[in-house]
Amino acid sequence: MTADPTSPAETSPAATSPTSDPSAGAGADPATLASAAPAAPHADAKTRLAGAILAASDEILDLSHRIHADPEPAFEEHHAAAWVAETLRRHGYEVEHPAGRLATAIRATRRGGRGSDGPRIAVLAEYDALPGLGHGCGHNTMAASGVGAAIGLAALGDEIAGEIVFLGTPAEERGSGKQFMIEDGLFEGVDAALLFHPCDRSHVGSFPLASEDVEVVFHGLQAHAAADPWRGKNALDAMILLFASVGLWRQQLPTDVRVHGIIQEGGTAANIIPDRTRAWFMLRSPDQARYASMKERFRGLVAGAALATDTTFDLTFTGGAMTMKPNPTLEGRWVANAAAYGVVDQGPDPNSGSTDMGNVSWTCPTIHPELSIAPEGTAGHSILFRDAAATPKADRTTLLAAILVAQVAWELFADPELVAAAWRDFRAAG
Ligand SMILES: [Zn+2]
Ligand SMILES: [Zn+2]
Repeated sequence: MTADPTSPAETSPAATSPTSDPSAGAGADPATLASAAPAAPHADAKTRLAGAILAASDEILDLSHRIHADPEPAFEEHHAAAWVAETLRRHGYEVEHPAGRLATAIRATRRGGRGSDGPRIAVLAEYDALPGLGHGCGHNTMAASGVGAAIGLAALGDEIAGEIVFLGTPAEERGSGKQFMIEDGLFEGVDAALLFHPCDRSHVGSFPLASEDVEVVFHGLQAHAAADPWRGKNALDAMILLFASVGLWRQQLPTDVRVHGIIQEGGTAANIIPDRTRAWFMLRSPDQARYASMKERFRGLVAGAALATDTTFDLTFTGGAMTMKPNPTLEGRWVANAAAYGVVDQGPDPNSGSTDMGNVSWTCPTIHPELSIAPEGTAGHSILFRDAAATPKADRTTLLAAILVAQVAWELFADPELVAAAWRDFRAAG
């Protein structure tokens, strides 16, 4: 399931000697989570939210560890989704699972005890793992912190006007599950979408790239690779040409876009001219408009490789993730609440991946805050980050994230003007 932990690439000095961790505020220690004074306003309710979450910490962290130990890739998160759904039911949520078209999606709701005349605030959680690596993106901590926030809000649910919505969102790493959930109406009426993502730094602002997955299949003709290779059409040659073309294309690409891929099928034997090869590429750009032209160019490179090798091809684009609309109002409330626990916002990452949370940000006010679970300099999607996601530090951060998500949600439930300001930001961002 996992790669060799002793591989040279993972034990190189650069990978094992990250810099110190300035984001680990003293208040992030679990012993101090209970005693920290939350940010104003509503400090009393926020203290009680934190108390309810910490009272359930065994349950929350057990969920994180179980998911970490049983990594399931995109669209196949059956155990994780079942465990999350079961925990939410136990805490009084009305749970829809599956929700919409995705078997591993969850929508759980808890109406406030003070009536429905209030906002609908969504707490989101991802739980998919990376093929061949496990929880190298730490989504186990996201699932557990989202459930933790939901537990805290439910405990004080009688004091709320509006509706708490928990959305378990599959397939972030591939396929953009949230887009399906948006199309299935599962975000309808949501006034704010909150979550937490683990990182090697702590920051609320982020600028994810627009991204699509691309499957490329070349079709050729088999032949004996020594006796009569001239009778074949080599689908591997086409694939090699495509990778070479992409490599040359990078020279002309802006530095902030990304094109990367792997070969998933490269033939079956050295003495057979391959009649089928398959690759999985990703195209990414910070600019949605430029991204469209990149796709056209990539199509041209594939067609060129096929023409040169007398092969044919299939090209399938899926899982579009969008860039993210910022929401300064929600970001400001996250930073203020986090500061009370000693977390210093380190500013957005200079480089970024992609997330289907971007798609959500075009439907309602959204934030994508990240908190440190690993020493700064730890690479994402790595064995080191995977292992970091089940350490005591990750556990502390999971509980802290649950508290912060619940506290920001509480402010939104308590203050209609804050919800209105978040929507004003949403509209202002185009
Ligand atoms: Zn992730
Ligand atoms: Zn990831």
